[in-house]
Amino acid sequence: MTSNPARLQAIAAVQACTPPPFTFDPGEEPGEIFGENVFSLTVMQKRLPKSVYRSVLTTIEKSAPLDPAVADAVASAMKDWALEKGATHYAHVFYPLTGLTAEKHDSFLDPVGDGTALASFSGKTLVQGEPDASSFPNGGLRNTFEARGYTGWDVMSPAYVLENPNGNTLCIPTIFISMTGEALDHKTPVLRSQQAMSAQAKRVLSLFGHEEPENVVAFCGPEQEYFLVDSHFFHARPDLLNAGRTLFGAKPPKGQEFDDHYFGAIPERVLGFMMDTERELFKLGIPAKTRHNEVAPGQFEVAPMFERANEASDHQQLTMTTFRAVAKKHGMECLFHEKPFAGVNGSGKHVNFSIGNSEQGNLLLPGDTPHENAQFLVFCAAVIRAVHLYGGLLRVSVASASNDHRLGANEAPPAIISIFLGDQLADVFDQIAKGGATRSKEKGTLMIGVDTLPDLSKDPGDRNRTSPFAFTGNRFEFRAPGSLQTVAGPMVILNTIMAEALDHCATVLEAAVADGTDFDEAVQQLLTSIISDHGAVIFNGNGYSEEWQVEAEQRGLKNLRTTVDALPELVTPEALELFEKYGVFNEREMHSRYEVGIEQYVMTVGVEANLTLEIGSTTVLPAAIRYQTELASNVATLKAAGVEADTSTLEAVTTPLTALRAGLAALSSAIEGAHEHEGIEEAAYCRDTVLPAMAAVREAADELEGLVADDLWPLPTYQEMLYIL
Ligand code: ADP
Ligand code: MG
Repeated sequence: MTSNPARLQAIAAVQACTPPPFTFDPGEEPGEIFGENVFSLTVMQKRLPKSVYRSVLTTIEKSAPLDPAVADAVASAMKDWALEKGATHYAHVFYPLTGLTAEKHDSFLDPVGDGTALASFSGKTLVQGEPDASSFPNGGLRNTFEARGYTGWDVMSPAYVLENPNGNTLCIPTIFISMTGEALDHKTPVLRSQQAMSAQAKRVLSLFGHEEPENVVAFCGPEQEYFLVDSHFFHARPDLLNAGRTLFGAKPPKGQEFDDHYFGAIPERVLGFMMDTERELFKLGIPAKTRHNEVAPGQFEVAPMFERANEASDHQQLTMTTFRAVAKKHGMECLFHEKPFAGVNGSGKHVNFSIGNSEQGNLLLPGDTPHENAQFLVFCAAVIRAVHLYGGLLRVSVASASNDHRLGANEAPPAIISIFLGDQLADVFDQIAKGGATRSKEKGTLMIGVDTLPDLSKDPGDRNRTSPFAFTGNRFEFRAPGSLQTVAGPMVILNTIMAEALDHCATVLEAAVADGTDFDEAVQQLLTSIISDHGAVIFNGNGYSEEWQVEAEQRGLKNLRTTVDALPELVTPEALELFEKYGVFNEREMHSRYEVGIEQYVMTVGVEANLTLEIGSTTVLPAAIRYQTELASNVATLKAAGVEADTSTLEAVTTPLTALRAGLAALSSAIEGAHEHEGIEEAAYCRDTVLPAMAAVREAADELEGLVADDLWPLPTYQEMLYIL
């Protein structure tokens, strides 16, 4: 019997290959290439007639609609620029509910009728596209007879040229909506929620004496964690290839316990990859800034400078696309799955969130004067109200089958959404709660409009890594989002729940002022009432502890452990009313997102279950049987020779082998059973029946991995995938 398992072939291939080193040009300044492939404001200013440029600027800054005459001029300049950059095609890029990025490519060339073709690109083609997009999830928003979706240019997100060895493409970031104007994507609601939040924030700013304040925008700085594995291993793991995570694999003898990887030296090959990705990101105008090793072996992180939420989320998608492509070039695969390796630290995408504008700056930054502090505290209090009232929505914004493996697994925040304020700010709000509306300054109470805040620490030591939503000195860091998901989802929720909370603040303050209440006193009253109504969401302790689970329940905080628990949050009467009121989603759109959420969950678990069945039956089981046969024939040979045979190894292998067979049979019927359920019931069935059946198969297989002869074991091990880079 000869066997050359894929795993051994992969190891040999990794050993034999020396990937081309990334040739870094030390003479090149990063500034030289930054934004080189972006049709930026600077490029537009150079190439567009003044009046056209001004009109585009107004559209961007004031969110005004784009004048069709202007669109033609912009399209023409954009086409010339793109052709100079080697583009042969253009694509409307959009962000369907799969969470991925979709593109529809069209050639610039139009046949003229005399056998030749001319490069053409009109304002209309720039502004609107009509992909036949019936295969994108829509949760019932589109029937097939009206399958067309429309894409529309988001002027606020610049077009860019994406390079490809086979020809470059002009990419135009767009929204994606149905014939009836309902959102089928992640960008449309970002733009809508952004407007809603801005309108309410401006009311609050006006109360603080800022006349006709500028639009307020949400800023987002997404930190991205990821794993790299050698392509040879990746291709020898059908589970990684098809599901993005390992469905089998025993924990390596050397895990992350040594803590030697975090912020350790970056391996040379990975450094080459990082330099290459940064260069590509710079060309696209993406301000990648920090890079370091993460907790787990093979795990790394990249963080860009924060940008407007809308642009940041487009850039974030583009970053993932770039990382995947560049990794391949370097003979590696970039894994964004939240939990590619069980028992090893998973990956998140921390979303740093603040709001502000160029006049008043960052509204979550404590100021220097009592008046500025009062304003800061109102915006902070709004966050507290928002997160307390709508924690369930924040939870569902990070819910996915893949993130379920990470949340609450003592490496990521729990599924309970609470706020960490840090000692000083928590103390400030304590004082406010005690101080009430009295004018007399008691010991230890802070008077709004009179006292300045104590220095709020930005010391990273003060950070609470176990909190899902932490104040970090000038922003909140939402730590629950998964590494695979778009940041648009959380940004939509944050903007919308902030719109509601700021609306509340503005309404209360406006009424008090109209009643003749002193403004500082009105602010003090507002803060006191918010903190007494919503202070329960503030938690500075250890979010990983058992006690917190109990305490959170006593405080009335939701603990939505899984996606299946979280999804119904999208369609509660309160949620429907909230989104309708601020014009972010109508009821149909909310229901469609709920349906798509269920569909994605069921599909993900379904694919994984089928893969587990397939790999278990065709890869693991045969290897184990071969080894069992080898052991059995060894026993038989010894017995025939009259030698006493030790059968303990044979028995040790036979037990998990029997369990594996039983597990596979049980999984097979579990998969069958899914068809008897529908909707959220089917999702619950997947969680409660299919996932445990997969786990049972895995348990037996992982035990066999520790028993079967190494030269027969077919799947690259954790050890190999994590440590060979
Ligand atoms: P850490 O690991 O300490 O959280 P990083 O430097 O890795 O810090 O990431 C911090 C992220 O927060 C960066 O993307 C940064 O641009 C972003 N950020 C900084 N200030 C703000 C802000 N005011 N609003 C939104 N994001 C911000
Ligand atoms: Mg961080």
